[in-house]
Amino acid sequence: MKARYIFRLDDATSFMDTKKWKAIEEIFQQYGIVPIVAVTPDNRDPDLMYQELNPNFWKLIKEWEDKGWEIAMHGYQHLYHKVNRKELLFPYYDRSEFAGLTFKKQQEKIRKSIDIFRKNGFDPKVWVAPSHSFDSKTLRALLCETNINIVSDGIAQYPFYERSFYFIPQQLWSVKKKKYGVWTICLHPDTMSYEDIEQFKYDLSISQIYKAATSVKSLNLKKRQKSVNDKIYSFLFWRLYDIKPWLKRAKFFLIE
Ligand SMILES: [Zn+2]
Repeated sequence: MKARYIFRLDDATSFMDTKKWKAIEEIFQQYGIVPIVAVTPDNRDPDLMYQELNPNFWKLIKEWEDKGWEIAMHGYQHLYHKVNRKELLFPYYDRSEFAGLTFKKQQEKIRKSIDIFRKNGFDPKVWVAPSHSFDSKTLRALLCETNINIVSDGIAQYPFYERSFYFIPQQLWSVKKKKYGVWTICLHPDTMSYEDIEQFKYDLSISQIYKAATSVKSLNLKKRQKSVNDKIYSFLFWRLYDIKPWLKRAKFFLIE
């Protein structure tokens, strides 16, 4: 089976840069793509304040849901504390909104988050952790408090089932053509320049991967265990991730 692609837009908050999001929305509309959109319901992260509070934020989210976009929970307030990344399920960064906290504290945050979603008429089924950072207690809190049973994260070539959740792996941050597998391409519209957005549109049309774009609902998720190939791919991804800063430094040193 040929490669399929899921698109994911991160950091939808009431302070997002609506013009850039509109530009991305138009591209998705043109190419018939229905992405996952990761929504932070009560954003307090000063780094995500791109404009004044948008009073029509939830109306916009509703419009997207009506278009078939998958509304995902992206944490609660997007505020971080320090953690040791080696203690995370996916060790990208030394920061988290959830990991390392007691189950009770995490449960409280998840409950406050889901309350805001429900108050606005949404019942998300997908979890997207801020900075990919969460632990097994976060998953337990999600099970207790929400109807979420899908995690958009992790490194594998196909979706897999683990810890009572369906994981749709997220492995790409730009358009890349693949031969097989299910690939999630994650974009952050707020931090993209208009040139980046144009480039993204160009890459989509050149690669033609929009023809193989799929959605969470069309994936037909199964209780599949990670295969040997998934495990090798994941192992190599994380080894490369760990040596990347060293490679960068070595390159810098050589150029200097
Ligand atoms: Zn985020």
